Amino acid sequence: MQRRHRAWAEIDLAAFRHNLAVARARAGRAAVWPVLKANAYGHGAAVLAAACEEQGVPRLGVGDSSEALELRESGIRAPLLVLGTAIDAELPALLRHQVEVGVHSEGRAHDLGRAARAAGCVLGVHLKIDTGMTRLGVLPEAALRVAGAVRDEAGLELRGVMSHFAALDGYHDPATLEQERRLRQVVADLRQAGIAVPAVHCANSAALYSADPLYGDAVRPGIALYGVLPPALAPSDALRPVLSLHAQVVFLKDVSAGTGVGYGSLWRAPQDCRIATLPIGYADGVPYRLGAGGRGSVLIHGRRCAVVGAISMDYCCVDLGPVRGVKVGDTATLLGEDGDERILAQEVASACDTIPYEITCSIGSRVRRVYRNMAPAPADPAPVSTQA
Ligand SMILES: *Cc1c(COP(=O)(O)O)cnc(C)c1O
Repeated sequence: MQRRHRAWAEIDLAAFRHNLAVARARAGRAAVWPVLKANAYGHGAAVLAAACEEQGVPRLGVGDSSEALELRESGIRAPLLVLGTAIDAELPALLRHQVEVGVHSEGRAHDLGRAARAAGCVLGVHLKIDTGMTRLGVLPEAALRVAGAVRDEAGLELRGVMSHFAALDGYHDPATLEQERRLRQVVADLRQAGIAVPAVHCANSAALYSADPLYGDAVRPGIALYGVLPPALAPSDALRPVLSLHAQVVFLKDVSAGTGVGYGSLWRAPQDCRIATLPIGYADGVPYRLGAGGRGSVLIHGRRCAVVGAISMDYCCVDLGPVRGVKVGDTATLLGEDGDERILAQEVASACDTIPYEITCSIGSRVRRVYRNMAPAPADPAPVSTQA
């Protein structure tokens, strides 16, 4: 019974498998490499990685070596790729656990190669091309040189050539097509120079859900697998939100008009009302900004109630308004459905001027993750629609 917890996130693995199937259908002949960085965007990387393995995904993306290590320790054997780069201190762990990493300069290729040789093993690397994002990656004109350095390092094995798109709305932005064009050129140049390119990959969720067919041998969706589309794309009913966030009511108080609620009395009751206190605050991922100026709501008894006053570290308060009969122990829903109402991560993100990624990634470690539908149903139906 989840109400043993003060605050909990329910993670529906049936929804995750559904979203994975939708992604696979959209990706066509390209492989889907789920991105599980940042604890699977707050959903819990170990459990979702196990679900991915059981669905036969060929590779998983992580953010750093500690995430890779956590997955290896939980028994994940699938190839893992640190999507960005690694710092030197991470190399021993990457080598020990056979974790692949992006490479974006000649010097880096030699460092990695030396470390691999010293450890007596081979490190799989993905040549990371900067086609317009700027953050990481080798510029197209230097790609051949870095690929040559990788080839010359006995300790390295080129497993892929990758790039990352900057546009928020994928292929709806012509800049994405230009990035793709540059990547295609690099791949052609490498092949011309006799360098075997095992896998080309560039598409994130925004690209996957804005183009058809896609360029590349694999796609790297993150957020869409969690049932949320990047906010610049039109919402889609084809995807199912995987996570819902709840807390139980721990206290009820009738206050009279004019009573201040929370730090700084940023909100005062405009009339007599009943306040419910929830044991979940900004340390648990409730954005501080949600408390200011009536931006937020939670669902209680299937009705929307306003979040009032400043969000505290461990608590927040709700004006129950006309909702009657609420008791201590009743469930409040901060993300997800209750009755006919639902609150999506996108709604909370817009209310706080941020992106849905930040909403789920910020859910803190005190929030208990409760997993639903761990085992696939014997006849999990294939998704009826692949349209996003
Ligand atoms: C995070 C990340 C992704 C996934 O992005 P989404 O927008 O969540 O689909 C793909 N590739 C790289 C390199 C990333 O860092």
